[in-house]
This record gives sequence, structure tokens and C-alpha cells, in this order.
Amino acid sequence: MQPRQIELRIKRIKRELTKLGPMRPGTLSMQYAACQKPGCACMDPVKPKKHGPFYQLSYSHLGKSTTRFVRPSYTGQIKKELTAYKRFRALTQEWVTRELALSQLRLELARRKDDEK
Ligand SMILES: [Zn+2]
Repeated sequence: MQPRQIELRIKRIKRELTKLGPMRPGTLSMQYAACQKPGCACMDPVKPKKHGPFYQLSYSHLGKSTTRFVRPSYTGQIKKELTAYKRFRALTQEWVTRELALSQLRLELARRKDDEK
């Protein structure tokens, strides 16, 4: 790829980054649980009917892992935020990849110029 093409791609990445909406890292999972109360349907030895679903949001930030429950009515918004964060990560990663390629090309160009002297 030519430096000009890479620069254009980086420009597009920056533009898309400014358009990202609310975001958050993490994964959303669905859990079913037994309350352990004797006689409850969840404790039926033959056909246990567990409670749930409960939505659990897990994420780690600055080296700290957190898990919390999310109300079912919030899961739609949370899923949007998780998707936006994934896009953010993909874009910034690609940005760095392109910058590395660009920097490498500049180094090679400078070396070639020096060799010509
Ligand atoms: Zn129960």
C-alpha cells in the first residue's frame, strides 16, 4: 500500500471514531440459578426449574474485573454499548497497524535517500 492510501484510511478511521455512540467494554451473559430453598421448583431432583434468566455483565478495566447484574429492560442498550466498544477497539487497533506501516515506509524512504548520497 502507498503512504497516501494509508493516510486516507487513517483519516476514515478517525472520522468513524468521532461518530461512535455510548460504549462500554464487557460481555453480557444469561444465567439461570437455583435459590437452594427446599421445596422450590428449582430444587426438584427430577426436573429442576431454575430461576431466570438473569443477565450478567462482566468487564475488566484498568486491571480490575467486575461482574454485575443487569435488568432485562437494559440489555438492549447494553448490547449497543458493547458493540460500539468492539468497533472502537477494532478501529484503534487498525489505526495503530496503519501508523506502524506508515512509519516503516518513512524509515525505508529515508534510508533509500541516504543510500543515494
Ligand atoms: Zn428456587
